[in-house]
Amino acid sequence: MKKRIAILGSTGSIGTQTLEVISEQPEHFEAEVLTAQNHWELLVQQAIRYNPNAVVIGNEAYYKNVSEALKPHDIKVFAGSKALNEVVEMHTVDMVLTAIVGSAGLLPTIHAIKANKPIALANKETLVVAGELISTLTLEHEVPVLPVDSEHSAIFQCLCGEYTNPIEKLILTSSGGPFRGKKIAELQHITKREALKHPTWTMGQKITIDSATLMNKGLEVIEAKWLFDVNFDQIEVVVHPQSIIHSAVQFTDGSIKAQLGLPDMKLPIQYAMAYPERLSTHYPRFDFAQIGQLTFEKPDVSTFRNLQLAYDAGRKGGNAPCVLNAANEIAVQAFLQDKIGFLQMSNLIENCLKSIPFEKNITLEILTETDIETRKFAEKQLK
Ligand code: NDP
Ligand code: MG
Repeated sequence: MKKRIAILGSTGSIGTQTLEVISEQPEHFEAEVLTAQNHWELLVQQAIRYNPNAVVIGNEAYYKNVSEALKPHDIKVFAGSKALNEVVEMHTVDMVLTAIVGSAGLLPTIHAIKANKPIALANKETLVVAGELISTLTLEHEVPVLPVDSEHSAIFQCLCGEYTNPIEKLILTSSGGPFRGKKIAELQHITKREALKHPTWTMGQKITIDSATLMNKGLEVIEAKWLFDVNFDQIEVVVHPQSIIHSAVQFTDGSIKAQLGLPDMKLPIQYAMAYPERLSTHYPRFDFAQIGQLTFEKPDVSTFRNLQLAYDAGRKGGNAPCVLNAANEIAVQAFLQDKIGFLQMSNLIENCLKSIPFEKNITLEILTETDIETRKFAEKQLK
């Protein structure tokens, strides 16, 4: 039986790579649902090629374009963000791969969990904003969450067969981003073009900027906390510029298990989709002797302040990580629109964390309000 996958965000970097995996493993997977926000033409092309049961175009203005283009095909077409919550519940969906960017991924993920669909989770913002809520829901519905993020996939792989063994420490590796080694003064006039060049990974714009500021690693620390049920003191970040060790786990006997490979997101995507199986691939193999050396260093959190801000917000808990995430989404967008400089992103986020009222006990309603309030406050600061 083929696994029928709903890909939320099929037109993005993770989404298109997921479709490549499906093309390479046609006897194992098929695309059941595809969704996009604005790239309707690509969505249509994908739908014609992969013949899903349904597609969703988030931006309702493009509904007509999509439905007309797909008229000759037997594919259901829906529009609007609410439709995302409905398609994930379809009985023909076997797994939901969440590759939407930002907190927009939260609600459809909640709906998928409530409909008992296994989740392949790329959208890390979901766990940053609502880690506690999602963890409770997945336990209640006994729904597996398979990490797609390469670091978390690595940790997950290291933990296979270790279910009763306590974790001493998770070691999250980071490439360090394109500005590794640079000091504050050199970061003052960074342009978005420079920030959009990642040394080892090709990704969507938001996560590429997050990688340059180390916010991506900060979000991943919070993601790891919820996926693996550890506390923040048990999560260490190590800069490893070659991105060969994808992350590691240290157990209480002092032994460390790591997962290695060439940086290619198709591997963790496929692993999450096929788990517990490993499917054969023809991707290039890592050659130790050819690479020669792997290097490691401490992250520079006084220059790349976002990583520290994320640890602090994560430790504080409540709605603080939700504030962090919303402020960061606004900051990245403003940087990409040349409204603020590279270093000002951290200032804006810090300002939001100081100004938005803290709520210890959270509900989905409180998180939704916090998200809206933070975005409003951050936008005001930009004026
Ligand atoms: P992209 O920006 O490349 O793609 C985002 C996808 O989400 C697109 O299909 C986009 O549609 C859709 N989308 C954007 N906004 C909305 C919205 N408001 N509602 C519904 N759909 C929306 O992002 P990435 O693929 O790089 O990243 C996706 C997620 O995966 C992020 O959370 C990221 O952190 C995580 N991730 C990504 C990695 C990577 O290598 N890229 C690695 C690890 C994690 P459209 O194309 O129409 O705009
Ligand atoms: Mg990652």
